[in-house]
Amino acid sequence: MAENRHAVTKARVEAEYRRRTPGSAALHEAAKRVIPGGESRTAAYFSPYPLFMEQGEGCRLTDVDGNRYVDFLNNYTSQIHGHANPLITEAVSRQIAKGTAYASSVESQLRLAEEICRRVPSVELVRFANSGTEATMYAIRAAKGFTGRNKILKMEGGYHGTHDAALVSFAPSLDLAGEAESPNSVPSSGGLFKGVVDDIVVAPFNNIEATARIIERHKKDLAGVIVEPVMGGAGTVPARPEYLRFLREATEACGAMLIFDEVITFRLAYGGAQEAYDVKPDLTALGKIIGGGLPVGALGGRADLMDLFDSRRPQLYQTGTFSGNPATMVAGLASLELLTTEKIARLNELGEHMRRGLGDALAEVGIEGQVTGMGSLMAVHFIQEPVTDYRSAARADKELASLLHLSLLNRGIFTSPRGFICLSTPMEKKEVDEAIRTFTEALTGMQ
Ligand code: PLP
Repeated sequence: MAENRHAVTKARVEAEYRRRTPGSAALHEAAKRVIPGGESRTAAYFSPYPLFMEQGEGCRLTDVDGNRYVDFLNNYTSQIHGHANPLITEAVSRQIAKGTAYASSVESQLRLAEEICRRVPSVELVRFANSGTEATMYAIRAAKGFTGRNKILKMEGGYHGTHDAALVSFAPSLDLAGEAESPNSVPSSGGLFKGVVDDIVVAPFNNIEATARIIERHKKDLAGVIVEPVMGGAGTVPARPEYLRFLREATEACGAMLIFDEVITFRLAYGGAQEAYDVKPDLTALGKIIGGGLPVGALGGRADLMDLFDSRRPQLYQTGTFSGNPATMVAGLASLELLTTEKIARLNELGEHMRRGLGDALAEVGIEGQVTGMGSLMAVHFIQEPVTDYRSAARADKELASLLHLSLLNRGIFTSPRGFICLSTPMEKKEVDEAIRTFTEALTGMQ
């Protein structure tokens, strides 16, 4: 009966979505003829078809059918200042008028590097790339190059981009994932090098005892441990502070490098989540907000490690046609200059308020669920058991999450299909309160 009611609700919500978005439907049909699935970004696809956006301004988006949305996704966190921020737009426009890439050094690269080194004490030197994927790829290369060892430990469910190493056990099916305390290394895509899959050791996030055993088993070969202080892709699951402290001590003890992937979490404090947690990694991968809305990645860390990339005598090779390009550099600099300690504190408070409001809404409507997260990052999970790692998040009801997503779109709230939400600086309490009311309404409609 319940399943039947669920199917009826889904059909009603989907019909409403189709009624509101004929322009997106038509463009998606055309796109499928030239792009497999109609979209280059698998994470941006959802069923029945993704929206085609026309414009963004502040915290609002307008789709090709003229529907307006408050943007609670912010391009999966990169748009921390929302869309078309006047200061960032002006900086980029001024630069674009002077050219976008020269195969030479530019002062804006130096200034953005200084800004990042100033904010993050563990980052003594930094190099730029074009995506978070490149940042974590170079981080892994640096750990292997520096230590001369060949294995990397990552967390089950940890997302670090799309290179081979990053796609091991990013979203393993629970049937293949093996023992919870000693997870299998499962390729999350076809086409990965088998050797890479074998050299990635997987640990259960937040489980000190199990991770300690895994590190002990591989310590002679272990080049590094890569971890997000708050696991984003797995469902915005914060690390327990003692877990990160344990990783710091355990890596130090066996001579492995500790890599923080702060591509998403850098927004949580002036110096990133490592400041909030007070744990200093050897290497930090950055992306998203440090590009002010343009494509970016960066790898920073200890000078003795980063020196391996020194262009005068490179032992590790890193380059890239658009690495450090001036359009991204000026946008990133403007974005970070706008992101003061006060702005971050306000965003974090707003996030706290929203997490509480969404949690109360779930309780009020009587749907089993919870809201995880930290600061301005959060995710809704339709499951009662506490979400503390990949497996607990993976057991949540994904059908309900996708139904909520479409229901929210129909009501003008743009979030992710899997329940991820993040805030931007143009948002005020009124947008958040309005979203909490809409969320309550959508949940009620799903009952
Ligand atoms: N690391 C984390 C934690 C991410 O969330 C992402 C992207 O979402 C990446 C790395 C990869 O970044 P990009 O999509 O810029 O390659």
